[in-house]
Amino acid sequence: MIYLDHNATTPLDPRAYEAMVPYLRERWGNPSSPYRFGGEARAAVERGRERLAECVGCRPREIIFCSSGTESDNLAVRGVARALRPRGNHIVTTAIEHHAVLNTCRALEKEGYRITLLPVNQDGVVELKALEASLGTETILVTVMHANNETGVVQPIEDIVALTRERGVVLHTDAVQSAGKLPRRLGELGADLVTFSGHKLYGPKGVAALYIRDGTPLWPVTTGGGHERGLRAGTENVAGIVGFADAARTAFEGSECEGRRLRVLRDRLEAQVTSTIRKVRINGAHAHRVPNTSSMSFRGVDGESIVLGLDIRGICVSTGSACSTGDPEPSHVLLAMGLSAREAQGSIRISLGRETREEAVDATAHALAETIERLRRISSARDEAE
Ligand code: PLP
Repeated sequence: MIYLDHNATTPLDPRAYEAMVPYLRERWGNPSSPYRFGGEARAAVERGRERLAECVGCRPREIIFCSSGTESDNLAVRGVARALRPRGNHIVTTAIEHHAVLNTCRALEKEGYRITLLPVNQDGVVELKALEASLGTETILVTVMHANNETGVVQPIEDIVALTRERGVVLHTDAVQSAGKLPRRLGELGADLVTFSGHKLYGPKGVAALYIRDGTPLWPVTTGGGHERGLRAGTENVAGIVGFADAARTAFEGSECEGRRLRVLRDRLEAQVTSTIRKVRINGAHAHRVPNTSSMSFRGVDGESIVLGLDIRGICVSTGSACSTGDPEPSHVLLAMGLSAREAQGSIRISLGRETREEAVDATAHALAETIERLRRISSARDEAE
């Protein structure tokens, strides 16, 4: 198998797995229990928090663990919306966010919040002028993702911070797809809230974090015990946190070198594809992108058919976000970048990772050329028959 869908999920780092095992087998205590056995689990959670805080560049108390990137996004968006409701009801986001943010904003709209969906340019970058113009006295939250999951395009968060901070507006960024891929301590971006997820950076699934800058107004969205400073009730996933923190450290430490390696491979893939296949567009090619991601649109073919055609050859790629697989709607991200519905439907996402080597890239470019040619032949034969 050639796995090129690392933006959907990554394999578990073997070192992270080894670090987790003792907390699944012997030290399985509840971190909230008062006796020493519980204390061992508590210590592991706190060590994980410290380790992740080092990667993020923040204080350990500014990290809250939760169960997924989706939950972390929900906590950030709903938590600020509720905490600041007396001050205003306006939330600004972009048309290209992950559904974890978009659908949360849509749900809040039904509760009486006003939502502004900012456009992006044809490279998939948010227009700062439009963002600035959208901010008003009622604006309480801006939520803009760091790197897009479909195109890899990185948003100018530092520039957005300059706009939100001077107006006292809270800024959240979903860094699920940039964490561990860019040589940056993401707490130093300047956002007030940052979302991370374990399984996108070679950690386990079902564990994630929200960085909450000290002093950021936030209400919990789950009620229960007082876990995680009362912000996220529920017994901590001890082994998951241990594995997440270990994997995050490896990913952050290696991000510069690995990023350079992946960029060379991604560029090689794109060069082969654009030189051997006609009528192809690389989405976001002119923008700053995370180095592992390539979004490609092929005229006159269907993305689902390309994915199935490559799957037969043992190559895993996707049409976009894993969460919307099976969803016949064209990608909202590509539509926002100005692609037509047909163009968007002829798109695939290829995301490279730690085990990707040159041979896999070359084999994929070759398989893609054959698959596209076959699909175009079929569709032109169909057109002639009609
Ligand atoms: N945000 C982005 C940008 C993502 O790509 C994803 C997953 O694809 C999520 C949030 C959701 O993360 P999780 O799968 O941990 O719920």
